[in-house]
Amino acid sequence: MDRFFHSVTLDKEKCKGCTNCIKRCPTEAIRVRNGKAVITPERCIDCSVCIRVCPYHAKKAKSDPMDIIKAYKYKIALPAPALYGQFNNLDIIDIVLTGLKRVGFDEVFEVSRGAEMVSDATRRLMAQGTLLKPVISSACPAIVRLIRVRFPDLCAHVLPLRAPMETAARLARKEAMEKTGLPSEDIGIFFITPCAAKVTDIKVPIGIEASSVDGAVAISEIYPQLVGCMNKVEEPEAISNSGIIGVSWAGIGGEAAALLNEKHLAADGIENVIKVLEDLEDERLSELDFIELNACPGGCVGGIFTVENPYVAQARIQRLRKYLPVSCNHLPGKQVPAEMKWTGELEFAPVLNLADNIEEAMKRMSMVEEITDRLPGLDCGSCGAPSCRALAEDIVLGEAKESDCIFKMREKIQRIADQLIEMEGYLPKNREPGGEENEP
Ligand code: SF4
Ligand code: SF4
Repeated sequence: MDRFFHSVTLDKEKCKGCTNCIKRCPTEAIRVRNGKAVITPERCIDCSVCIRVCPYHAKKAKSDPMDIIKAYKYKIALPAPALYGQFNNLDIIDIVLTGLKRVGFDEVFEVSRGAEMVSDATRRLMAQGTLLKPVISSACPAIVRLIRVRFPDLCAHVLPLRAPMETAARLARKEAMEKTGLPSEDIGIFFITPCAAKVTDIKVPIGIEASSVDGAVAISEIYPQLVGCMNKVEEPEAISNSGIIGVSWAGIGGEAAALLNEKHLAADGIENVIKVLEDLEDERLSELDFIELNACPGGCVGGIFTVENPYVAQARIQRLRKYLPVSCNHLPGKQVPAEMKWTGELEFAPVLNLADNIEEAMKRMSMVEEITDRLPGLDCGSCGAPSCRALAEDIVLGEAKESDCIFKMREKIQRIADQLIEMEGYLPKNREPGGEENEP
């Protein structure tokens, strides 16, 4: 698998080079070069911000086509709880789950079940006192990637647990193998995803070697077919097996509230999240025990692949939760099972650094300062970089030149024009053959 796989991609034909996206990207991953946006894959965290702000729909998110499930003998759907908020007048979650079976899945295993187990595991790990507080949730892969590239000092705060989707996939596979007697490779597990970052996380996971999920089908892709099947469900099967805790992970604050600890904070939207992380870096949030951060506005219900307004979806989930038990899934025994934990630590990815060694980085940094001082400081984006400082960095890295700045270019042209005017004075005067000197 390409280690720089990204769900978020650019449709070059549609891009008009308007520069809207470059300024909003939280990792300065985009430049406009030769009139088209270019995404630096090492920097992109698949947050989808650029998709939301592009007026020409030139940025899009890839997911797997529904046909992918046909490659497996036994197919299991893992619906994200955000899916439940997409339907009007829904009273019972089992209608959605039965609908998924009619769409073509043999089994449905709710991700909210995995979420309840992750909540249980988090409570236990926090009670053991082994985690660095405030603990930052690892459930949103775009946030984990953001921390990895922009906030090296906060890597140690990230909760080292697999996402609910992974825990659900592992349990679903185990149950299916026991039930059917099929080998693991005949069982296909598909996440019904609300967002692009989860697609990337399945293909190129962080914290674990490989995902237990075989593919990700977008909510928006399955939605029309699913609605058709749901409309025909008269007797829904009793499949749902999760409670308020698991289903609430769909929206902002659900994961944090499940810890039954008041010293928590929940933020959504990448710009708000960055403010929280900066405060945490400045040690202004040390009174908190847990921080839940979601890249999408409203949490997973606001993912780029959802079809409903996130606030409407959140209100529907609120209503659905009313008749659910608090939680249906708990960990056996006292310990957190090793299979729920990350196998490695979150490591800083120095993709924003100017050089690999500190001496060279310092040298380049002072060059960046010098060039930035010479630039106009307008951060207008006309050069194709998100700010004057970003252009200075690109110049130092040999990826741009000072004349890419239109003001610098204008100064240069002005200088050349002045020189030409000055040189004109040195030109020999025109003479009529055998006559007087003429003014040119
Ligand atoms: S998905 Fe997010 S990080 Fe990636 S290029 Fe777009 S705005 Fe930047
Ligand atoms: S927002 Fe970005 S991707 Fe969209 S047209 Fe403008 S430059 Fe191109």
